[in-house]
Parts: sequence; structure tokens; C-alpha cells
Amino acid sequence: MIIVMKNSATEQELDHIVEKLQEFGFATHISKGTEKTIIGAIGDERTLRDRPLSSFPGVETVVPIVKPFKLVSKDFKQEPTVIDINGIKIGGDNVGVMAGPCSVENRDMLFKIAERTSKAGAKILRGGAFKPRTSPYAFQGLGVEGLKYLREAADEYGMLVITEMMDPRDMDDILKYTDIIQIGARNMQNFRLLRELGTIDKPVMLKRGMCATIKEFLMAAEYVCAGGNYQVLLCERGIRTYETETRNTLDLSAVPVIQSNTHLPVIVDPSHGTGRRDCILPMAQAAVAAGADGIMVEVHNNPEEAMSDGDQSIVPDDFDVLMKRVRIIAETVGKQL
Ligand code: PEP
Ligand code: MN
Repeated sequence: MIIVMKNSATEQELDHIVEKLQEFGFATHISKGTEKTIIGAIGDERTLRDRPLSSFPGVETVVPIVKPFKLVSKDFKQEPTVIDINGIKIGGDNVGVMAGPCSVENRDMLFKIAERTSKAGAKILRGGAFKPRTSPYAFQGLGVEGLKYLREAADEYGMLVITEMMDPRDMDDILKYTDIIQIGARNMQNFRLLRELGTIDKPVMLKRGMCATIKEFLMAAEYVCAGGNYQVLLCERGIRTYETETRNTLDLSAVPVIQSNTHLPVIVDPSHGTGRRDCILPMAQAAVAAGADGIMVEVHNNPEEAMSDGDQSIVPDDFDVLMKRVRIIAETVGKQL
């Protein structure tokens, strides 16, 4: 349920109701907006049967939430969440651009790609160090060595790092070297992992499972928020359909649909979303035109030799063109890169 406090409510009144809710066994989450303070209370509402919260001092209204997700919903927080890492912002009016290779293959290629993508305006360097590969015999990533290269290259070019975590046993290393933790499509419903992420103080980008509905996607994000970590980004990366011309079907209508339900930023990944180099530019443009809060694009200096996802990687020259176009589109829809 959501408890909306009156504009005139005092800190003591807020503390009092939070204390009472906790006494009744509720987990409480406070959202202080520009106008209103809202308490999200999660617990068994039957325990409140004879204790009308609306009669507590400072309370304006009590709204039961019937949706299965609460903290991620716009009922809990109306203003868009802006993730701000060292002044680099994603969400609200800010379009975040994440670019880099599918996998970190070696130090040299990563530095080359970071140099070109940062010059074009990308502020977040992506690259897999622990790779979720369909075949156990395919390249699995450089592990901690890859994380170190990511940190060094990002620091050299003034970028942030995003990389995927598959296993909480890698958490310490990943926290040490990266700014945003990516949870891949294959782990979107790994609930133990999601709960673990709720306890950390770093942003998490959750990728949509390839067979997940938007509701399931939002509920996965709810797991992270319920643990107390509200810095969550949602990434549409294509879903499985009967179509075989593309690797996945990029669900661009998910952008406005998700945004109508949640305050969290929505990122679009046209690379995994289509699996085709010729689709990256049009789909990146379309994503920003549709109101996405960011894009994630795979860029490789030599896609033919890439150790993973070469078919969907674009070269730095094409990334330059993409950035020019996307910047114009962002401005057209009232946002900035
Ligand atoms: C990736 O971004 O490197 C990746 C593996 O993506 P996904 O989890 O969407 O397949
Ligand atoms: Mn990839």
C-alpha cells in the first residue's frame, strides 16, 4: 500500500507512522518528491484491519496497490528516476549512451574502441568480462583481467563502466571495477541474484528476459528495489518471436508501455535486439524517438574477427554517424545526450 503524507506533515509524524508500520511487520520505503512524501509499505495488510492508517496525524490518503509491483510503479514515485554517477546522468531529460564490444578480448582493442566511442560522445563503456555463452566451448570472457582493462580504458577516456554479472561470487571484483552492474536477459528471473543486488549501493541495469512479459520484467526490478536499491535501469533487448530474419524482435512499444508504468529509466539495446548490423542505426534512432532514456550499442574495431557478436557490431565510423543522428533526435524529443 502507499501512504501519501500531507504537505504540512512534520518529520515526527513521518517517523511515527514509519515506526508503527515497522511494528506491524511492514517493510517501509520512503520517497520524498518535490511536493509530496510517500511511504511504500510492504507487508500483510490484514494485520491492519482494526488500525486505520488514514487516521494517523499527517496522513493525507492511503492507497492500496493492486498491481504486483509497487516500488517501481509511478504510484510510488511520479518523477522520473535519474541515475547520476559522477555527474553522468541517465533518465529524465538525459539520454545515456553505452557503447563498446560484446566481449573484452584484449587491452588494445578495448582502448581503441573506448577512444573512438568516447570521442563520438558515449559516456559509458560496455564490455563483457564474464560472458553468458550458449555453448560451454565458446569464449567465456577474460574474467577479472577484463574488468581491469575496462576500468583502465574508461578512466583514460572519462567514461563509466557497465559490465555483466552472472554469479554473486564475482560481486566483490565487479563492485571494485565497475560503475553499473548489468544483469543479462538469461538471469532476469534469477531471484536470488536479484535479491543480492538489492543490498548494494550501485546502479543495476536489468535486461529483459527473452521470453519475459513487461509485467514479469517490472517484477524482476521490484525484487532489486524491495531490497532497498532503487538505482535500477530497465533494458529492452528484444524478445523471442516466430520471426527468424532477426535474432530477436526488438519490442520498441515496450518503451512507452514501461514508461507509463514506472519511474525507472528505460534503455534500448538494438544490437542484441536485432542481431543485425544493418538494423542498429535505424533502431537506435527509433528508440530515442520513442522516448528511450538510453541506448546500448555493440561497437567493434574489427567485427569480422570479433570473438562474440561480430554480426551485430558496428565499426567506430558508423558509430559516429549514429551519434550524430541520435543527438538530433534526442533534441527533437526534448532530451539531451
Ligand atoms: C550483453 O549485453 O552482452 C548480453 C549478453 O546481452 P543479453 O543478456 O541481452 O543477451
Ligand atoms: Mn553481445
